[in-house]
Amino acid sequence: MSSPVSDSLFERAKQLIPGGVNSPVRAFRSVGGAPFFVKAARGATLITADGRELIDFVCTWGPAIHGHNHPRIKAAIAAALENGTSFGTPNPSEVSMAELIVKFFPSIQKVRMCNSGTEATMSAIRLARGFTKRDKIIKFAGCYHGHSDSLLIKAGSGALTHGNPDSAGVPASFARETVVLPYNDRGALEAAFAANPGQIACVILEAYCGNVGFIMPDPGYLAFVREITARHGTVLIFDEVMTGFRLAKGGVQEREQIVPDLTCLGKIIGGGLPVGAFGGRADIMDYLAPLGPVYQAGTLSGNPLAMAAGIASLQLLEELNPYARLDTLGRQLRDAVVAAAKAKGIPVQVPQCGSMFSIFFTATPVRDYATALTGDAKLFGRFFHACLERGVYLAPSAYEAGFLSTAHEGSAIDRACEVFTTSIAGL
Ligand SMILES: *Cc1c(COP(=O)(O)O)cnc(C)c1O
Repeated sequence: MSSPVSDSLFERAKQLIPGGVNSPVRAFRSVGGAPFFVKAARGATLITADGRELIDFVCTWGPAIHGHNHPRIKAAIAAALENGTSFGTPNPSEVSMAELIVKFFPSIQKVRMCNSGTEATMSAIRLARGFTKRDKIIKFAGCYHGHSDSLLIKAGSGALTHGNPDSAGVPASFARETVVLPYNDRGALEAAFAANPGQIACVILEAYCGNVGFIMPDPGYLAFVREITARHGTVLIFDEVMTGFRLAKGGVQEREQIVPDLTCLGKIIGGGLPVGAFGGRADIMDYLAPLGPVYQAGTLSGNPLAMAAGIASLQLLEELNPYARLDTLGRQLRDAVVAAAKAKGIPVQVPQCGSMFSIFFTATPVRDYATALTGDAKLFGRFFHACLERGVYLAPSAYEAGFLSTAHEGSAIDRACEVFTTSIAGL
């Protein structure tokens, strides 16, 4: 498939931008070939710089739960724009946003806005350390929490795809404060608490993992994590940057009826503009400056355009309550892939919940980082390109989740099922 406009843009980009991209997962390194550029997007469709139309299952890596360029979100941004782009003072929409967040997430009593998911997790961890006066943190292999130093250790897809799960430039002394454990392994968590008595400030996890492909917890695992953290006075942080507002209005914690101490949000909450947020128990949140000793700040935090886009996005979710429908569409995709792989005799695992799914070409059930790695990345690369040729865009890595949006009409899903079936048959 020739893409002269994208190819020439990529050549120019590579001269000036490292790897030609502003975020490494966009670079197509793990599936081969060059990335395409997108000049516009509408609903479930991307329009490439070369004028091709693609059905999009990346949804800007999660935020676009209403598809691209939704008229209501666009109108909200346009209306806010009339009043100015940034004030550096409190603005009324920050209050509306906080009210919406605490309504959707009952575990959140107070919330602070920031500008990305990375900032949210980084700040939540500093807060947990300041609150508990402990230094060590526990994270799980394959869980990605953004690219701050103490969290970029066994961090899933982006790092994984490029073959260096531990980034250069992270001091070994920082990494020593981060205990990395296998997800879904109760014994490992118990042992880590026993080995570090009174030292664990927080446990942070993607309650459902979405950054090493999509992985769900074993029944009872999250309740166990809640119980053991409470027993040790350790702050439990749910990173719902990806799952918040996506798997339920109140995220995984609503689905699983778990009350974490702190929650990190991002992606959907910005309606396509750069936003993050973290919040939770008021007694912990009050440790933040200006009330408390933990410093955290942001020139553009609570930006009025981002608040307007996010509020419109959340209000739409409230009106549509699209979760049952998204799950039906997600199942339709999963069933098509499973049936096609069976017909072809290729082993596959397709974990799916609501609007998130992953395709792992492996016979091994995927329940953690190690089993995710059994997925055949080469075969996935061929499948990815076969789909792309036929107009369906999946994330360019064997270790990423796929996303649906409310703009994926039945016809887009039917077409995608056909493409998945034909592409698998041709592998
Ligand atoms: C995307 C993501 C982040 C980082 O968010 P950015 O806005 O990219 O900094 C953190 N945690 C999870 C679970 C994510 O999916």
